[in-house]
Amino acid sequence: MHDLADIADWLHTSAIHHESTVHDTLPDPVFRVNGAPAVSFSTNNYLALANHPRLVDAAKAGLERYGVGNCESRLLGGDLPVYRELERRLGALKHKSDAVLFVTGYMTNIGVLSTLVKAGMLARLHGFRPKKRRRYAYFTDEYNHISIREGILMSGADRHVYRHADMDHLESLLKAADGISPIIVSDGVFSMEGTIAPLPALTALAERYGAILYIDDAHATGILGQNGGGTSEHFNCYSPAIMQMGTLSKALGAIGGFVALERDMADVLRLTSSAYGFTCPPPPDQANALLAALDLLEEEPERRARLWDNQRYFVERMAPLGYHMVSTSTPIVPVLIGDAARCQHFARALRDEGVHVDAIQFPAVPVGQARLRFMLNAAHTRAQIDHVVGVMARLASAL
Ligand code: PMP
Repeated sequence: MHDLADIADWLHTSAIHHESTVHDTLPDPVFRVNGAPAVSFSTNNYLALANHPRLVDAAKAGLERYGVGNCESRLLGGDLPVYRELERRLGALKHKSDAVLFVTGYMTNIGVLSTLVKAGMLARLHGFRPKKRRRYAYFTDEYNHISIREGILMSGADRHVYRHADMDHLESLLKAADGISPIIVSDGVFSMEGTIAPLPALTALAERYGAILYIDDAHATGILGQNGGGTSEHFNCYSPAIMQMGTLSKALGAIGGFVALERDMADVLRLTSSAYGFTCPPPPDQANALLAALDLLEEEPERRARLWDNQRYFVERMAPLGYHMVSTSTPIVPVLIGDAARCQHFARALRDEGVHVDAIQFPAVPVGQARLRFMLNAAHTRAQIDHVVGVMARLASAL
């Protein structure tokens, strides 16, 4: 308790102190803070589906039919047809026969990564006789999401960290770790960098070294690829070695997470992952809303087209201002500022001009690499983008 009090004192005076903005409304992408309108360049609601009337109506219908929560694990009495249907549709989006639904994307990574290496052990307790006893190790990109790090830690398996997207480094680690079953883990789109993982090269390595390749497609699902299928669709790169997870709280506008698998493997995960079997799924009204989101993904490809148009428009206008844009290949466009206090100064100046952008700092990124993370949205107007670029131009000349 004492430590926490001391840390609280220190935090309020330190550079990493961070004030989160409390909105009066959801960003669509305009929201209200203390009654005043602001435009959000920080929402994960990439396709502007969270407030879409079809999702809202589907959620209402779900509430009427099922109530607010199901209050039970799906392994016991908490299963519903709407979850089964959602899993089938998510599996199809990822070219797999099934998917396993978790309460959030975070819990998906925890639930799957902590379990992959233990599923065999759990099955052995019940009489499973494996052809070969496997020893697993994880090979993970240094910039992977924190839930990946935590899931791997929970697994108890060895963890080898490779430099961001450095395939030579990954291969040297794979070569050195003889006699183990490798599991390679990478974000599909890196949340703080906006870079896309080199999936074809990762897949080639996974196939060469007999590895499972686990891709976190939180920021790619619904966005990359012609149908929003994610990183595999973007590269037209599919392989039995690939296991894709996704979140339902970003482009799809609601809450939940999933991993897409073939049906027999999905059943193993349902039986062995505590984050599936010993807790509840997302509320059923959310699952109903997500079916509507998947319909819109198919029916309105122009949403994705608008998102990418906005991304290109923003990047083209920012380019002459002389900022260091970390990456410009996805709707996540981070502008490197460096010093955390200066980055917060920028974020405050933008807020004073009616724009909300996240100031990302340690521990989300290394110390000294604080950045403004601009996230483009299908519903941004050209005028809103012109406005934010104008503010950034004024801030650049004031520097
Ligand atoms: N993976 C990545 C790469 C993410 O950026 C996030 C969310 N920030 C998650 C997983 C977790 O997803 P969720 O918010 O659904 O828990």
